[in-house]
This record gives sequence, C-alpha cells and structure tokens, in this order.
Amino acid sequence: MRTIVCMKVVPKTEDVRFDQQTRTLDRSGAENEINQPDKSALEMALQLKEGHGGDVVLLSMGPSFFEPYLRLGIAMGADNAILLSDRAFAGADTYPTSYTIATAIRKIGNFDLVLCGEESSDASTGQVPPGIAEWLDIPQVTYLSQLNIEGSMARAKRTVKGGYEIVEAPLPLLASVELGCNSPRFPDFRRKRWAEKEFKITVWTAADMGVNPDKIGSKGSHTTVDELVELPRPSRRMQRITGSPEEEAVLIVQKIKEAFGS
Ligand SMILES: Cc1cc2nc3c(=O)[nH]c(=O)nc-3n(C[C@H](O)[C@H](O)[C@H](O)COP(=O)(O)OP(=O)(O)OC[C@H]3O[C@@H](n4cnc5c(N)ncnc54)[C@H](O)[C@@H]3O)c2cc1C
Repeated sequence: MRTIVCMKVVPKTEDVRFDQQTRTLDRSGAENEINQPDKSALEMALQLKEGHGGDVVLLSMGPSFFEPYLRLGIAMGADNAILLSDRAFAGADTYPTSYTIATAIRKIGNFDLVLCGEESSDASTGQVPPGIAEWLDIPQVTYLSQLNIEGSMARAKRTVKGGYEIVEAPLPLLASVELGCNSPRFPDFRRKRWAEKEFKITVWTAADMGVNPDKIGSKGSHTTVDELVELPRPSRRMQRITGSPEEEAVLIVQKIKEAFGS
C-alpha cells in the first residue's frame, strides 16, 4: 500500500507577521515547524504501514528551507520525500497549490491513499485537500480522525458538528486528517542521524513535472489579498491577589461578581 502524505512547513503561530507591502506572510525572523495536523497525517500513515505494509511518501511544495522538516518526517519513519521547489510555484493560492501537488501525485503514481492535514495554521483555508482530490478525480473524506482499510475499501470516522459519522469509500482515496486525533511519534534517534546526513530528498521543478505554466504560482492564482488588517493583540488586566487561602477565595468571588455585574 502506498500512502502519500502532503506536508506543509508553517511559521509558528506566535511568530506570524504580515508584510503590508506584499500582503503576504513575513517569514523572516519566524521559527518554522511542520504543520501540526500534517504530523497527525504522517502518524496515521505510519500506523497503516505497520498494519498493511507498503511505503509512505512525503510530498511538499515550498522553498529549500523545507528540507530539514522533510528529513524530520523521514526520521519519524517515512520512506521517501519529494520537494516541489521552483520560483514559478511562488505566490500560489489554493488553486495552483492543489493543481501542482496533484500533478506530482500523478507522477509518483501507484498510490492508494493521499493524507493531508485538515488545514494549515498560517493561511487556514482547508481548500487544498479537496482541491487535490478534484484534480485527481478520486473520493475525499475531510476532518477524519480514524481510518481502517479492508481490502480495497476504506472505513473512516469523521467529525461533524456535535458528533461523528462513519463513512466508507473505495481506494484510492484522499483524506484530510484532524488535528490531535493521534499522538505523532518522536523521530527515531538512529534514523534521525541517517535522515540528516545521508538521505537524499528528491526535488522536482516545474520543468520536471510538465505542469502547465499558466496554472502555477501567482500566474495561475484566481485570488489576490486585497487588504490585510492586523488586529491589535488584546491587552490583559492583571491583578495579584494576596492573603490567606480563605481571604483570596472571598476576593476572587468578589472580582468575578464585579466582572459580571452581579
Ligand atoms: C494572509 C494570507 C491569506 C491567504 N488567503 C488565501 C485565500 O483567501 N484564498 C486562497 O486561495 N489562498 C490564500 N492564501 C494562499 C494560501 O496560503 C496558499 O494557497 C497555500 O499554499 C495553501 O493554502 P492553505 O495554507 O490555506 O492550505 P490548507 O488547505 O489550509 O492546507 C490543508 C492541507 O493541505 C496540505 N498542503 C497545503 N499546502 C501545502 C504545501 N505547500 N505543500 C504540501 N502540502 C500542502 C497540507 O497537508 C495541509 O495541512 C493566503 C495566504 C496568506 C499568506
């Protein structure tokens, strides 16, 4: 069984700043990390591999600084990593992003599952996974928290408002995986050294993939960010309460009553 895990590298949420000039994310000075739901997608893929065999391929579209994060995924247990990296991919909205990733998935070929995170923590549209499924013309299950494979069928638990539903779909299938549905494993120490020093990441450019140049990057994008407004962070009122535990309790109750006007 071949599972392709789409992995995005994102700036840590607290480091996210906006560049008002270009209306894009300003990553300079930001610490990056693997998008958290994508780690859950990788954990799910590795557990499925333990049960069914096969291989796990990491796929990412982004600049070369994504490479160490792909190596981390390899150290966790993925078998292969492909980075789609080309200046022509820059400035992509979700339409060219999903088109470019879907084209790479076709090129990898022979896949049974494509796992994505439910959404990214930087732009958070959640549109890329359904977009990839549409380009590939395969079934999709979003906000999935559990996945069992029986023969050529997948049985999935997906979260809906107020509960969950169990759905079935034939393979090949694309699923977007819910944040926190599992505990992603730590990288294997010995594998980490090998992943960092010896593992070779495959890099594909636009020319390697034969993508339509009009459908990629900013040229292929259908949306532009027109205005970007950064909300001021809420200021916090802090007050230190001192006294015996009984006195502190009385004061806290008094403060709560004052706050809620009762
Ligand atoms: C401030 C800002 C606002 C934006 N607003 C919009 C907008 O309104 N509409 C729009 O179309 N675009 C918008 N974009 C662009 C958007 O960030 C890109 O299209 C981005 O490449 C993918 O969208 P996303 O991060 O929302 O992905 P999501 O759809 O939220 O990501 C879901 C999953 O898809 C996979 N995935 C996503 N991107 C990649 C990748 N590069 N490599 C591998 N896997 C990936 C991951 O598994 C991820 O967990 C905006 C960007 C910024 C900075």
